[in-house]
Amino acid sequence: MHAFVMRDIGVGGRERVADPTPSRGDVIIAPAYSGLCGTDVHMFHEGTLTRKSSLPVVMGHEFVGTVVEIGSGDQVRPYGETDQLRVGDHVSVEPLLPCNSCSQCLRGRSNLCSDWSHLGILDDGCWADLVRVPAVRATKLPDGVSLYDAALAEPLACAVNFVVQRGRVRTGETVLIVGAGPIGLLSVAMAKAAGAERILVSEPQANRRASAERVGATLTIDPLAHDIVDATRAATNGAGPDVVVEASGSSTAVAQAIAAAAPGSRVVLSGLGSGGTTALDTNSIVTKELTVMGGFASRWAMSTGLAAIAAGHVRTDDLVTSVRPWSHAEQAMHDMVADPTTCKILFDHSL
Ligand SMILES: [Zn+2]
Ligand SMILES: [Zn+2]
Repeated sequence: MHAFVMRDIGVGGRERVADPTPSRGDVIIAPAYSGLCGTDVHMFHEGTLTRKSSLPVVMGHEFVGTVVEIGSGDQVRPYGETDQLRVGDHVSVEPLLPCNSCSQCLRGRSNLCSDWSHLGILDDGCWADLVRVPAVRATKLPDGVSLYDAALAEPLACAVNFVVQRGRVRTGETVLIVGAGPIGLLSVAMAKAAGAERILVSEPQANRRASAERVGATLTIDPLAHDIVDATRAATNGAGPDVVVEASGSSTAVAQAIAAAAPGSRVVLSGLGSGGTTALDTNSIVTKELTVMGGFASRWAMSTGLAAIAAGHVRTDDLVTSVRPWSHAEQAMHDMVADPTTCKILFDHSL
């Protein structure tokens, strides 16, 4: 088969590689759609999250596809699914591979596993004709949800973690999302699905602000033109947001998230920066008694994300700014950095 292989930092491309073979309990999936994620770009250009010992590795971790081969043995099924996967099933994949036996895994915190792997980062991923996946990480799409509908289910599961599991957004609350890239936009959709009354979005790019309004933002703010603290106070009768989700990873956005958070509110930092340290206004955190927390990847959130898609809360078209073949991944990673208006670049594996 062919695959996009990363050989070293900044070095990679389409290559011919051996087909994957399923181990016990695995399935082989032919990806239909895969996404380009900021993590891929950081990994390819800076080596973020991957390890030298894992290279070469097939990149790509956000995907849906069709089961084409079944490994031996019984499959462990997630989310109470009772049927074993069969050839032809459409599935969405959670790419983080937990060990399922460390103390974090045993507490259900699979994304904090001490011995984790990850498709597309430490294990071969989905920018390829075929990918091997443990069946427990492949969830069947609900009836009536197409592969295209579910194309963003993986980043959506991350937004479920940030907004619902970490941020605990409740009915009637005001949520501020800082950064309207794919994770920010999916966080808007999940905040709306969770019953947030006001959803404020801070984003410097006009086209992304327009996308935020399409997915459910009640007010968008250009942080280059307006003071984010003044704007969020004005929109909330002076109260400020109950929950802030920082979804860009830039130090400026983190500072804005802390500054705009209302006293007593929850702040979820979900954006991975480019490494190094970011200064925080700790006096604000102390005197406002903020609960500041991280959010990383997803934690058994795929079924919630797929339910949100089935209910019509998330539409692939609202986020995708370009559709390409996966073999163009290197150019796509370049374009994503060079063009700040880019939102989601989707790879259609039939192209
Ligand atoms: Zn991702
Ligand atoms: Zn573990």
